[in-house]
This record gives sequence, C-alpha cells and structure tokens, in this order.
Amino acid sequence: AKAAGGDRFVFYTRDMTDRAETRLRLESGLREAVAARSFELVYQPKIEAASGRLTGFEALIRWRHDGAAVSPADFIPVAEDTGLIIEIGRWVLEEACRTATRWALDHGPVPVAVNVSARQLADPGFARLVEQVLQRHGTPAHLLELEITETVIMKDVRHHLPTLNRLRALGVRIAIDDFGTGYSSLAYLRQLPVDVLKIDRSFVNDLPHAPDIASTVIALAQRLLLSTVAEGVETAEQRHWLAEAGCDCLQGYLISRPLAAEAAEAMVMTAFAR
Ligand code: C2E
Ligand code: CA
Ligand code: CA
Ligand code: CA
Repeated sequence: AKAAGGDRFVFYTRDMTDRAETRLRLESGLREAVAARSFELVYQPKIEAASGRLTGFEALIRWRHDGAAVSPADFIPVAEDTGLIIEIGRWVLEEACRTATRWALDHGPVPVAVNVSARQLADPGFARLVEQVLQRHGTPAHLLELEITETVIMKDVRHHLPTLNRLRALGVRIAIDDFGTGYSSLAYLRQLPVDVLKIDRSFVNDLPHAPDIASTVIALAQRLLLSTVAEGVETAEQRHWLAEAGCDCLQGYLISRPLAAEAAEAMVMTAFAR
C-alpha cells in the first residue's frame, strides 16, 4: 500500500519534470531561433467572395526545431511569456513589409496582414516601430494590415486605443481577429479605429446549418461600414452561404493552404497578368 502511494507520487513528479523539460527545451530553442532568424513566413491568400479575385494575404510564422515543425499555437504563447515575442514580432513585421514592397514593385500592390500579439500591442514603442519598418522598406502603409484578436483589444480598450489610433493615422489597416469569440461591447466597437472583422473559424465551421453568429457579424459589419473576412472556409457550401450573405472576403483551405513565399508570389503575378 505504501508502495502504491509512493509510485503515484514519483509518477506525478516525473510528469511535471517532463513538462518543465519540454518547456525549457522549447524556450532555449526559441532563443537560438531568434538569434539565428531561423523562422519563415508562409502566406495564405484571401479572395473577394463575389468575384474570386485575390485581395491579399495573411502572413503566418513557421518554425522548424530539431527537424520538426512546431505549431505557432504552441510556441507563440511561450514567446509571449518570455518576452521573445517582441523580437519575433519585429522580424515578422520586417519580413512581411519587405515582401509586400517587393511584390508591389515587381507585380502590383497586394496587402499583407500580420498577426500582432498582446505583448506587442502593449509595448509603448509599437506604433513607432511600425512606422519605422514601413519607412525602412518603402512600404505604402495601406499594404499593411494588422490582425489583433478581439480578446486582446477588448481586455483593455482604453489602454490600447491611443496605439490603435496612431497606427490608423499611419494609414495601416486594422482587423479584429477571431471576431465573435470575445465579448465586444457594441459601444466600444463603434469607437474603435478598425477596418475589418474576421469571423472566427468556429462560426464558419457551423455553416450552413447554424448561421446565427455569422449572420449577426456580417450585419453588424455592414452597419458599421466595416469589411468582413471569413476565416477557415473549408467547404463549397460554406463559401456559397458566405457569398450569398454578403461576406466580403474568404480565407481557408478551400481557397488555399498557406503558401511559401514563391508560390504566393506566383499567385500575385497571375492576378496582375490579367
Ligand atoms: P490565426 O491568426 O487565427 O490564424 C489562422 C490559423 O488557421 C492558421 O494556423 C492557419 O494556417 C489556419 N487555417 C487557415 N485556414 C484554415 C482552414 O480552412 N481550416 C483550418 N482548420 N485551419 C485553417 P497557424 O498558422 O498554425 O497559426 C495559428 C495561430 O498562431 C494563429 O491563429 C495566430 O494566432 C498565431 N500566429 C501565427 N503566426 C503568427 C505571427 O506571425 N505572429 C503572432 N503573434 N501570432 C501568430
Ligand atoms: Ca490571424
Ligand atoms: Ca483568426
Ligand atoms: Ca482563430
């Protein structure tokens, strides 16, 4: 009986140690990756629902660690906790702007959206950083869109408002990501300097049988003169429903998986060759 209790205790500790070890390995790997700039961006296209025309891309970070791809859903939270997200986020911004400028010069202007984390947005120097990066790469501000999740914005609207206003004044577009998952106060939403609502994938996933949330977000966006993007569109039925409902843009595996820069550039080239 004593042994059983002892075993359980040992097992528990080992489990904790394993988890702490995994976390530490991830953390030191991330530090090395930041120093070596060994990340990559992939680009997922967005299209106009009515016409199928290419309207832009979302840049998504990729990291290979010890020969395996680590999901950003796993390492971005660690980067947030450790503060490494500040440097990673700066790299993402630079890389996306460099790409948007190159595509604009070689083919034509295509907006690129970048995800911004809580810690980045809270950084007092963030708006200035964005301005400097745009200048450094000669990127027209309207080609940069910043995606900020609803939860991050709404958690502290009053604190973030000045930064959002500064970004908007630069001419950068602002999208509220994963919209519908938080609890936006409508009064606040009206005052926020935002351009785009991205309907969270979980609600797109419910289409066409449970369309209430998607309908509501689209109606709300139309009322506030915001544009809508549906994320995670996977089926022809979803695409059809969204186009009929007046959703402006679509993004998801049905249209395309995220693409390496070269494949994305080929799409840009085709879009401007018509
Ligand atoms: P997110 O911003 O909501 O990005 C959408 C995620 O859904 C991406 O996953 C994308 O690959 C995936 N996705 C796109 N279409 C479909 C679809 O049709 N079906 C399904 N099942 N999934 C789809 P990914 O690239 O693994 O990124 C996960 C999350 O990690 C992102 O969610 C974002 O919150 C974060 N993230 C990614 N890149 C960055 C970055 O550069 N900076 C920051 N701060 N966060 C990032
Ligand atoms: Ca996003
Ligand atoms: Ca999203
Ligand atoms: Ca999401």
